[in-house]
Amino acid sequence: MPITDRIETLVFGETVASYSLVISPHATLTFDRSGRPTGFYENGLYTARGLDGHCVEKKWVWPAAGEARRHIRILSKTEQYQLRYRLMDLLNLCRDHLSDENNRPSIRRFVRGRDEEFNRDDLEAHLDFLVQGIVRAWTTDVGRFAKVWNPIGILPPDQYLSLVVQISEGCAWNKCSFCDFYAGRPSRVRTLDEIRRHVDNAESFLGPALAGRCSIFLGDANAFQAPPSVLIPVAQELADRFPHLAQAQDDGVGGLYSFADPARLAAWSAADLQVLARTGYRRAYLGVESGSDAIRRQLNKWGSAELAAEGALKLKGAGMAVGFIVLLGAGGRAGADEHVRETAALLRNANLGPGDMVYFSPLFSAPGADGTRTAQAAGREALSEEEMAAQRRSLEALVPPRGERRALYDIREFVY
Ligand code: SF4
Repeated sequence: MPITDRIETLVFGETVASYSLVISPHATLTFDRSGRPTGFYENGLYTARGLDGHCVEKKWVWPAAGEARRHIRILSKTEQYQLRYRLMDLLNLCRDHLSDENNRPSIRRFVRGRDEEFNRDDLEAHLDFLVQGIVRAWTTDVGRFAKVWNPIGILPPDQYLSLVVQISEGCAWNKCSFCDFYAGRPSRVRTLDEIRRHVDNAESFLGPALAGRCSIFLGDANAFQAPPSVLIPVAQELADRFPHLAQAQDDGVGGLYSFADPARLAAWSAADLQVLARTGYRRAYLGVESGSDAIRRQLNKWGSAELAAEGALKLKGAGMAVGFIVLLGAGGRAGADEHVRETAALLRNANLGPGDMVYFSPLFSAPGADGTRTAQAAGREALSEEEMAAQRRSLEALVPPRGERRALYDIREFVY
């Protein structure tokens, strides 16, 4: 139930990448530079909105006893429309507040950190711009998005703000028992001309919002499905065309990234990987899932843990970093000990360090999936969310970090 029906202070914010409206005491709205709503906080709940219209509501929940846990919920179509009208209501509330001369001391505007002078016409024009962004987001944008991108199955959490360039479509393997991201979709590598047109369309769709993107992610499930004769020139063209996205920044963002399937890395020479690294390609994310080959077979994962480790070493040898994705709960209760033991061995031997990452991804169903595949991957008895969190702690205790970053990878939170 919204309780923001009055305004005490109203702060308009503007950065290189975004606009914001802070409506005290209880609401904050954020928009990209094209005026599309990207996030909404009200009364303790945050809702993220993707370019494709997908909305995810989330917050931390602290029970009286036990550990904090995530509340994550995908909004239904009806709720998405309710969100639209709530945002419109709030912008109207801001407009009313602005129109009353008595409220002037409570209104401030910051542009890139600078406190700006009050200018009512300017602020009203700004509100009009945001209203237009909301209208477009709920009318033309969703259809336009679908013409530019195939459904984006998933991204690593540090790549949610990347510019996604789909150089290949789907997943060539597409048989892992826990994965629905590309189910029923054919897989292929796009031609150079198709990729160039796709990039033109993506740039035109994003418009000024491109300034808020932080890196370039080469989709879909495995960029190395493309041969060096495609991937290297594409990476170089993207680096030349979008230097602010492709160059590594001091804060750790910037660069080219992708998922990688170790099976395809065997087809890449060390020399080709080095050329790719010189374009600005920084990190490949490998879904290793488990260090146990028996559990990987249960997951119907192609290859072996050893092959994944060899792939990682090959990438690192060429000057790239790696992101390992470990599937918490893989093998269920029956396989838990083996999963922890063998995955710890894989992490210990992987020579990870600064620039690398380990993601811990709990075995949840993808949003919209029926859960059958997840249940199959967990075996006869699935671990609870708390048990999967405990499994992560066991792994981290067995293998302390050596400079690599570690984080949760909750697929339910994904929006693009
Ligand atoms: S987990 Fe990766 S390799 Fe397996 S089906 Fe999904 S996208 Fe393909």
